[in-house]
Amino acid sequence: MDEILLLTRAFAFAAEKHAHQRRKGEDAEPYINHLAEVANLLATAVQGRDANLIAAGLLHDTLEDTETTRDELVRAFNEDVASVVSEVTDDKSLPKQERKRLQVAHAAHKTDRAKMLKLADKTSNLRGIVTSPPAGWSIERRTEYVRWARDVAAGLRGVHPWLEEQFDAAAATAEKVLSGD
Ligand code: ZN
Repeated sequence: MDEILLLTRAFAFAAEKHAHQRRKGEDAEPYINHLAEVANLLATAVQGRDANLIAAGLLHDTLEDTETTRDELVRAFNEDVASVVSEVTDDKSLPKQERKRLQVAHAAHKTDRAKMLKLADKTSNLRGIVTSPPAGWSIERRTEYVRWARDVAAGLRGVHPWLEEQFDAAAATAEKVLSGD
């Protein structure tokens, strides 16, 4: 498929699937903002050279948070896009704490592109903790989230230094804000 077609299709697909979903933050931004940020981080990281990965960035929460199936992603896009999205999807049948534990345990075993996507995702989430903290999240809960994101990111290193820098900067800013300096 033509790359521009693939990306515009991924954008429209994600916007439609997440149409009624908002970010957890107090500003309740449209969910597509998060997906656009993740895709843009990835596009910058690969300098536009990996359209499937950028499309996976736009689609990365469809399996976890919407009714979308893996087969649907294969049909609408391709096997590679579906496979990267599957790799970054939690098993929703497990309790939340177990899913969080497994993200840490599995991070180092992901493929390089899935590691990049996860780093971009965590970077966007950490930025959100600062710019629009989830309503009702105490400082402790936010601090705990940053700590957990750092634990996941530890397993994602060694693939893309620039993405690691973006993550580290977002984590450092979040820690600074949370510690009240
Ligand atoms: Zn996400």
